[in-house]
Amino acid sequence: MIRFGPSGNSESFYEQGYKSSVQMPAWLNAMGLNAYEYQCSKGVKVSEAVARNIGDEALKYNIYLSIHAPYYINMASEEEEKRANSKRYILETLTCAKWMGAKRIVVHTGSYSKVDKKWALNMAITVMKEVLEEARENGLDDIVICPEVLGKQNQLGSLEEIIEICKIDNRLIPTVDFGHIHARGQGILNSVEDFMKVLEKIEKNLGYDRLKNLHCHFSRIEFTKGGEKKHWTLDDVQFGPDFEPLAEALYIKNMEPVIICESRGNMAEDALKLKKVYERVGG
Ligand SMILES: [Zn+2]
Repeated sequence: MIRFGPSGNSESFYEQGYKSSVQMPAWLNAMGLNAYEYQCSKGVKVSEAVARNIGDEALKYNIYLSIHAPYYINMASEEEEKRANSKRYILETLTCAKWMGAKRIVVHTGSYSKVDKKWALNMAITVMKEVLEEARENGLDDIVICPEVLGKQNQLGSLEEIIEICKIDNRLIPTVDFGHIHARGQGILNSVEDFMKVLEKIEKNLGYDRLKNLHCHFSRIEFTKGGEKKHWTLDDVQFGPDFEPLAEALYIKNMEPVIICESRGNMAEDALKLKKVYERVGG
């Protein structure tokens, strides 16, 4: 089953008087959505009790949960201490996912603004192998780690690099942020064929199962020469990419991905718009 949901909580959720993410699963279900990416992007701060409450609600309201790990993870840091901390943040996010019953965590692998690109990729692969081993030792290996394709040229996370990292273990599924691919490539996603090229590259390298169950982020995005500048909403049509050609490509490849909308402010409302576009294209 394909799933749609927001990254974090919409402004309207708070405007309507809701205060806690524990209330999100019911709120999303009432809207007609069925996925939710909980944000630990500024650190894993949620208590075990709250995490378990969110998980109970998600189960009750059929919401597929994922968690975004902290942004400051850098598996390719030249400092050993920072790499060790990065591993710890990923394991903390996995532990939080366990409490919540979240199936996936999304991880930014790092940056190569200070180091050689090849060295950075090899280091991230080494660190990821250690993370997978520690996850297994701690009974956390039933949660899927989804390394994310990143939007800035100086970030370790081109589509090709994320594919290389995912090749080390069948349990790794890429998070494909189509806005990031568009930004990094200076506006390359404009047609069904453009999206198909991305999907086919993933299938060729990682197999159909992982393509079918892909983790996706989607939003319109503003970019500069350095890549990603700012996420916008679906109404900000001066920025690409469009979702419609991607929806067509998802049908062609018979996929059942999780699609998380990262629009600014109204991510849940826009997730619902994506779902409607998808249904219209299919109908
Ligand atoms: Zn991300």
